[in-house]
Amino acid sequence: MKTYISPWPQAAKLPDFPRSVAVLGATGSIGVNALKVMARHPELFTVMALAGGRNGTLLAEQCARLRPRYAAVLDDAARRELEAGLPAGYSPQILVGPDAFTTLAALDEVDTVLSSIVGAAGFEPTLAAARAGKLICLANKESLVLGGHIIRAACHASGAVILPVDSEHNALFQGLMGLESDDEIARLILTASGGPFRGRDAASLAGVTRKQALAHPNWSMGAKISIDSATLMNKGLEVIEACHLYGLPVGMVHVVVHPQSIIHSLVEYVDGSQLAHLGMPDMQVPIAHCLGFPRRLGVDVPRLDLARVGCLTFEEPDLAAFPCLGLARDAYDAGPSHPVVLNAANEVAVAAFLDGRMGFADIPATIEAALDRHRPVDVSTPEAVLDLDRAVRDEIRRALWPDAD
Ligand code: NDP
Ligand code: MG
Repeated sequence: MKTYISPWPQAAKLPDFPRSVAVLGATGSIGVNALKVMARHPELFTVMALAGGRNGTLLAEQCARLRPRYAAVLDDAARRELEAGLPAGYSPQILVGPDAFTTLAALDEVDTVLSSIVGAAGFEPTLAAARAGKLICLANKESLVLGGHIIRAACHASGAVILPVDSEHNALFQGLMGLESDDEIARLILTASGGPFRGRDAASLAGVTRKQALAHPNWSMGAKISIDSATLMNKGLEVIEACHLYGLPVGMVHVVVHPQSIIHSLVEYVDGSQLAHLGMPDMQVPIAHCLGFPRRLGVDVPRLDLARVGCLTFEEPDLAAFPCLGLARDAYDAGPSHPVVLNAANEVAVAAFLDGRMGFADIPATIEAALDRHRPVDVSTPEAVLDLDRAVRDEIRRALWPDAD
């Protein structure tokens, strides 16, 4: 029996308010939205730690406002920017480098971790928070794609709870709450906006530009997830994320394209009825749901007026024009090492597309080739996951850019 108080229900102990929060990825789209949510409810949250990557200037502004005890950045250049931007008389403890994020995730003074670093770089900090028994508000879906089995085991062992920030999974979580048993679920239905190229065929996608691909119709997000939305890889990663969060086979996780992004996802029960979660597309809502759970917090977002929206439409995803969704489903089915390869190849390809070194249609081709080459390996430890992640990235870079250093 599952209660869905969390994806790991036996560990449903949640920290009291005020919660002491570490925001990893504070300078990103999710991080900035989370700071807005917490600023609206200062009595409920103490911002204990803020971590950025390379944007030391923005992190300094955030630190000046919120005065966390700890701050972290990726490198010395960002540290210099951070230090230059801090006001006189305030000096947080500053940590630098990838280990800084795992340290912050496990601090004794922190009970709640918002995991919103982008990409595989979020895996180790998320795992550190899981091992340390924190309440994890999880935006970084890639960490479950890489090692959902490892993170899940760590949560079981420590009592950590994961609440999903990803809007679809947050919607599903609400639809699953209160069920007596898994047997009552028929399937989960993830909605997808279809991205900026919905309705186009494969041939017409070859020449699309970076600017076109970044122009998401409904959501304002970081660059990597915006490209993932344009290829439908985002939905593929989300299918895998849902399987790990809710312990269901990939055959029970469906996708429907819903261009208005008003329905965030649906749960279908064995009686054939479906429960949908609706709202305007704004990430402050699922972020607030996780940070405040089980309380509902007020957020300053536009209200949904169905009469103004007028019409909600739905269609099947086009797997021929957007092969990444199918690649992700197949990768999850093929075993735990295939999703690591899928994710690594995707991150290299998306970065290359954003840098102008690869065309849009080369993204799925690069991922498919990497998966075709892959033979399953053991990824039961974090070290094995990270070794495979590195090996795939190196192999693709060597194959595509043999002259690069
Ligand atoms: P952004 O690109 O806007 O922000 C990424 C954050 O991660 C920034 O703070 C960045 O720092 C930091 N960062 C980047 N690389 C590293 C690194 N190697 N080590 C440490 N920190 C790093 O991304 P989003 O906020 O859009 O997305 C974050 C995560 O949330 C992703 O996993 C995404 O899939 C997920 N998500 C996002 C949604 C959205 O609406 N944006 C919706 C659902 C899920 P800096 O900028 O200072 O370099
Ligand atoms: Mg999502």
